[in-house]
Amino acid sequence: KKLGWALVGLGSLSKNQIAPALQKTKHARLAAIVTGTPAKATEWKAKYAIPDSHVYDYETFDKIAENPDVDVIYIVLPNSMHEEFVVRGAKAGKHVFCEKPMANSAEECRKMIAAMKAAGKQLGVGYRCQFEPHHRECMRLAKEKVFGPLKFIEAGFGFQIGDPKQWRLRKELAGGGALMDVGVYALQACRYLTGEEPVEITAQEVKTDPVKFAEVDETISWSMKFPSGVVASVMTTYAFNGANFFTAICEKGRFGMDPAYSYDGLKGWTSKPDVKIEFPAVDHFATEMDAFSEAILNGKPFAPAGEEGLRDLLAVEAIYRSIKDGKAAKVEAM
Ligand code: NAD
Repeated sequence: KKLGWALVGLGSLSKNQIAPALQKTKHARLAAIVTGTPAKATEWKAKYAIPDSHVYDYETFDKIAENPDVDVIYIVLPNSMHEEFVVRGAKAGKHVFCEKPMANSAEECRKMIAAMKAAGKQLGVGYRCQFEPHHRECMRLAKEKVFGPLKFIEAGFGFQIGDPKQWRLRKELAGGGALMDVGVYALQACRYLTGEEPVEITAQEVKTDPVKFAEVDETISWSMKFPSGVVASVMTTYAFNGANFFTAICEKGRFGMDPAYSYDGLKGWTSKPDVKIEFPAVDHFATEMDAFSEAILNGKPFAPAGEEGLRDLLAVEAIYRSIKDGKAAKVEAM
């Protein structure tokens, strides 16, 4: 059986990754669209044979409650709009899948989790790497201590951002800069490799273009302490290309990925010639949408759920706090 998915926000990710992925999914199909741009509605209706009755805008969105063809609502809007549309999706009585970062603050995440709980529906967060086989193998190598106990992680993800007018550089819409957008991938990697939550963070920010990055962070590096004693040294940037990796240093060897967070072409490596991290490419978006659909069809709780998004935001807030206060910051508890 295929569940009907409604896409909210038909920007770059919806157009280039999610809609094509929905042509490959086994348990999900594109059922409806929500857009504020009539021209996009016309284009998508024709391309994906979507009837008029399954096209909504941001005002008529709530009528989706009456559409039995829609089982899941997928929020693919700028970060600051995630909370509003997840809460409205919950009120419409639908399961909701939300893009990363889950929201602009831990407080918003808590409201989203509460709304979904009250609706009795599942909330999934789009952490695509958690379904990707190279990442899953790295989680196994760490968990089973194949190279001995994990001691230190180095991770980073960034890119040179273009157009100075885009929403990603507006604090009101993006919540923050590189950290909120791509730093969360490196943060996530440290969390799922250790299987632990960071307790203390020391961060510093560098700004080389205070005009372009007047509202949001450009480059941040931070260090995280985990309860077991593992330390992670992490960076993110909007200023340059080249950082897209993690390295896990264990007592008896090392492993990692580079590139680690792209949609394809991922490469894993280890310090032992006989231990390889090699898997065929998968479509990250088709895999996560199928996993969410299967959880719903089988009545099983889905992970990563809202709590996972909240944990990331708690760490993100500690990073910003440390920069502001110029000293180590404790990560707030769930
Ligand atoms: P985008 O700018 O290409 O698309 C955003 C969409 O939101 C557009 O259709 C735009 O019309 C609409 N929108 C509605 N109100 C808006 C407003 N006030 N300002 C700007 N746009 C508005 O962005 P995107 O790259 O598709 O990102 C959307 C979400 O997906 C973000 O939360 C982003 O973090 C996430 N994302 C995730 C991945 C991933 O790999 N999982 C990759 C890219 C983006």
